[in-house]
Amino acid sequence: MKLYNLKDHTEEVNFLNAIQSGLGKKQGLFFPKYLPKFNSHDLKKLIKMDFITRSTHILSHFISDEISLPDLKKQIKYAFSFTPPIIVPVTKNISCLELFHGPTLAFKDFGARFMANMLSYWKNKNSSMTILTATSGDTGAAVAHAFYCMNNIRVVILYPKGRISILQEKLFCTLGKNIHTIAIDGSFDDCQYLVKQSFNDKKLKEKIGLNSANSINISRLLAQICYYFEAFALIPSKHHNNVVISVPCGNFGNLTAGLIAKSLGLPIKSFIAATNANDTVPRFLNNGVWKPNNTISTISNAMDISEPNNWPRVEELFRRKNWNLHTLKSESISDKKTIKTLQELYKIGYVSEPHAAIAYKVLIKNMKKTDFGLFLGTAHPSKFQDTVESILNIKLKLPYSLQSRVNLKNFSHHMKPDFLKLKNFLLKKI
Ligand SMILES: *Cc1c(COP(=O)(O)O)cnc(C)c1O
Repeated sequence: MKLYNLKDHTEEVNFLNAIQSGLGKKQGLFFPKYLPKFNSHDLKKLIKMDFITRSTHILSHFISDEISLPDLKKQIKYAFSFTPPIIVPVTKNISCLELFHGPTLAFKDFGARFMANMLSYWKNKNSSMTILTATSGDTGAAVAHAFYCMNNIRVVILYPKGRISILQEKLFCTLGKNIHTIAIDGSFDDCQYLVKQSFNDKKLKEKIGLNSANSINISRLLAQICYYFEAFALIPSKHHNNVVISVPCGNFGNLTAGLIAKSLGLPIKSFIAATNANDTVPRFLNNGVWKPNNTISTISNAMDISEPNNWPRVEELFRRKNWNLHTLKSESISDKKTIKTLQELYKIGYVSEPHAAIAYKVLIKNMKKTDFGLFLGTAHPSKFQDTVESILNIKLKLPYSLQSRVNLKNFSHHMKPDFLKLKNFLLKKI
């Protein structure tokens, strides 16, 4: 699989390079040079396959020159070894695609686990590797669990002290073994800056085999393409011509994966990009001006991003496919409306959480009666226990994966946002 750098098209790499380096020169994102295309006959066959077989088939069209089919299937089987996506009807013609039944209860398990398995598959058995990543919550947990107990791979996760929920913290700071977590006295941006400084230190990078695991890694997007096909296979065929999908967006990775699925021939009628008050994209689609504001804290905190990393990939895909960017609908929903929507959903019998509620709200505002609407459930409601319980005035039952960690010891270290301190930590604890 060849990929090119969006900031310098002359830089081309294969999948292995892309997954290992994350970004290209000038911090450019990698994008596939060739996009496979499935015709309606292929699609019919794909739809009949089970999730693992189909995912192997789809991804083999991208990377079969770098990994054999049996090996790829083995890695995918292991990566997706949890409850697959399910479709839960909410109204007569609207359903939620629940992607949160994995080990860390968010859709990020798909991408993180695929990436972890591919990295370890290609890793030289005797060399060691350090995965360094900053998280505002869900990514850290998904990455930690995905790499947990992998040989010669050490994971170091930085997060802003006191700014992620207690349950989120319990999910990944209680693992121990090869997972090291550091609570930083500062914001998410401070954490991200420390990661950048580490990557800029060439000697350090080489010495400890530094690798990032953030959402710009192309492997995560590839994995996410698979569940859009699964969703389509789960939808009754009478609706297949009218499927509209609403995606709650932060870094726009999830939406990019959906659009790539469409470009491969999955006949989704349209995609809708739903955001919270961090509305750079809906404003841009409205007035053509790209003007990120300061990031605002909302109750859908995984989407509190005003400079979405994956947006250049969305634009590139539209350019390559000759699609009109204005066919992409996008709207922002305030916290006040999100709260109301959560309550509305609860009244009609569906317990949700703020991120999915935003996608639902934008969906009902933009779909036709004759459409079949799907909104993505990106996290389990109990991950946002306090918010959901106080808005709906209910008590949530924690799923086992959370309940089982509540009383475990938190192994986190504590650090000021000081690069030299972090560097010492990284050099010591191999
Ligand atoms: C990460 C995340 C999002 C945003 O997904 P992107 O791919 O970054 O757009 C939405 N909801 C939840 C719960 C998340 O964890």
